[in-house]
Amino acid sequence: MGKDITEIFGENVFSEKEMKARLPKNVYRTLMDTINNGSQLDMTTADIVANTIKEWAIEKGATHYTHWFQPLTGSTAEKHDSFIAPAQGGMAITEFSGKSLVKGEPDASSFPSGGLRQTSSARGYTAWDPTSNCFVKEGSLYIPTVFLSYTGETLDKKTPLLRSMDALSKVAVEFLKLFGNENVTRVVSTVGAEQEYFLIDKKMYDQREDLILTGRTLFGAKPPKGQELDDQYFANLKPRIAKYMAELDEELWKLGIYSKTKHNEVAPAQHEMAPIFTTSNLGTDQNELAMETMEKVALRHGLVCLLHEKPFEGVNGSGKHNNWSMMTNDGQNLLDPGDTPIENLQFLTILCALIKGIDEYSDLMRISAASAGNDHRLGADEAPPAIVSMFLGEELDAVLKAIEDDSVYKTQSRAFEIGVNALPSFPKDSTDRNRTSPFAFTGNRFEFRMVGSSDNIACPNALLNTIVAEELSQFTEILKPFKNTENFDTEVKKLMKKVLKEHRRIIFNGDGYSLEWIREAEKRGLPNYPSTVDCMPHYIDEKNMRIFRKFKIYTKNELQARTEVLLETYSKTIRIEARTMIEMARKQLLPATLGYVHELCNAIDIKNKVGLSSYTEQKMSSKLNDLCDAFYDSIDNLESLVNEACEIKEILIQSEFFHDRVLAEMERMRTTADTIERIMPSSHWPIPDYSAMIYNV
Ligand code: ADP
Ligand code: MG
Repeated sequence: MGKDITEIFGENVFSEKEMKARLPKNVYRTLMDTINNGSQLDMTTADIVANTIKEWAIEKGATHYTHWFQPLTGSTAEKHDSFIAPAQGGMAITEFSGKSLVKGEPDASSFPSGGLRQTSSARGYTAWDPTSNCFVKEGSLYIPTVFLSYTGETLDKKTPLLRSMDALSKVAVEFLKLFGNENVTRVVSTVGAEQEYFLIDKKMYDQREDLILTGRTLFGAKPPKGQELDDQYFANLKPRIAKYMAELDEELWKLGIYSKTKHNEVAPAQHEMAPIFTTSNLGTDQNELAMETMEKVALRHGLVCLLHEKPFEGVNGSGKHNNWSMMTNDGQNLLDPGDTPIENLQFLTILCALIKGIDEYSDLMRISAASAGNDHRLGADEAPPAIVSMFLGEELDAVLKAIEDDSVYKTQSRAFEIGVNALPSFPKDSTDRNRTSPFAFTGNRFEFRMVGSSDNIACPNALLNTIVAEELSQFTEILKPFKNTENFDTEVKKLMKKVLKEHRRIIFNGDGYSLEWIREAEKRGLPNYPSTVDCMPHYIDEKNMRIFRKFKIYTKNELQARTEVLLETYSKTIRIEARTMIEMARKQLLPATLGYVHELCNAIDIKNKVGLSSYTEQKMSSKLNDLCDAFYDSIDNLESLVNEACEIKEILIQSEFFHDRVLAEMERMRTTADTIERIMPSSHWPIPDYSAMIYNV
């Protein structure tokens, strides 16, 4: 501990520094051109790069290499091959060719594809993504790749993200030229994903089949104390947690992840790690790595890291705040309001593009955060609601209002009007915050708060990039004829006014948790999709298909496949949860309760014999006995509902059935079980309770 960060940072990454130091100059330059501009790498260069990476990796203790990819399963995938090759005389040498670096052919038949890949042509291939760094971990060289079917359809989460980054860059470069940025050649989207998680003691975890199989507690009465005192948020770190976090930081730094911020979160046993932002592509890989590292490091401390969106009822669940912006190759953050007029006009136009985009495609943003786990968060009274809206803060909102009404915007010291060279400087600190908004401007970026803690962030960022690309391309079309004319500012203003008039409804600065907002949003005509099954069918709405086609993000087939995979995963998740409940109920909870009733009945017998009152035992046993009957029926009911659901062939109808019927019965069953738990003595309750789990680290 107490190591020098600068010494360990990135030590397991084949970074630009390593490339420069180890590769011949011309090879380094060719590779950098591939990384920065997407040019194709020829095989001779690839061979040299591969050999150099191999030597570096072996120095770091690697014996194997693996193409690392992000299939539609929700986790990452890897298959390891050693560098070994036979040599004369029964000897071995190490070998790693450019071909092995650039392309892999995993047997893809067991990955979800939503019917894209028939099992008869089950081959898929992985292709090196040189824009993300290779790294060494646990004796293997990891090569970030994308995963495609043999016919070129995407089977992973990264490809659409990369496509969207390209699309956005092209459009944004053109757009920026209108504002005099002739030298910008590339725009990248950036992300800083604040990651929330729970830590509980491994001994408790091991006793809970629900946590082991589903990642969340399916039973459990609320503890007497939850988060109502707000005494957990930013609270001082307990020694065990502090040690965990220190080791986590070190591991992340070694992997080249700029782990920056750590603190306790709102719920007991809940914490957060935030890295410094980077490109969406690298940020996605790093977030996947961070989640994996969190889980691994926890085990070394006798802890288990829970990344599920809602491990515990009654206290906050976990999200992942997706901080998003765009950065030009000349270092401009496009969402920085800045303090020169020209840049501000540019900023305000981009802001309007976002307002229009989020309003027109709010369904896509909701979809990007849809999962069975996250449904427990969105719409509950903690996280952002399922309704997508935007928060801009008082000052920006007033500026836009002035534009809309043709009025003069006044700050204390100067007046602001579009085209007038006096501008307010926007507050960049966190004084102006609205934690209830799903999509909030936070000074120099937008923070999309709907994403679930276990989600891969590729999807939200891919959709956001696509939406913004669409709006910026529309704006460019409209404004292009006025480029370099004296009417330009007026035309920009006209465009902004129109956009604000039509899309102001998406802006909401009030309390996103309140019931009034739900009613107000309905009046404004904003969609409200409380669950995954409500929003998913809109993925392939024609308006959405149009932009995916336009920017070549998804074909209709790919999108249909993804919708299917998501709904299937949803159904399977609930099926597993229901079956876990049934098993725990039959094998643990019901027998324990019946056993206790039996004990009480024996006690009643004995007490009666010696003439003592058995008032308490009678009351308790009769109450518990009734609850057992209800519990028993509920178990049977749930089982037949699950069986009925499994008979349904049509995917959407099946997932709706899981949502409307199975989930509802699960909730009923849980209520009964939790009522029983409150009556039962701890000595007889077969699984650790909430207090034990969330207050015992
Ligand atoms: P808070 O919890 O107050 O929102 P944090 O510091 O925990 O703030 O997280 C803010 C996140 O936003 C960090 O990951 C930070 O790197 C990221 N961020 C800052 N600027 C940008 C940007 N331009 N683009 C993307 N992410 C950014
Ligand atoms: Mg935040």
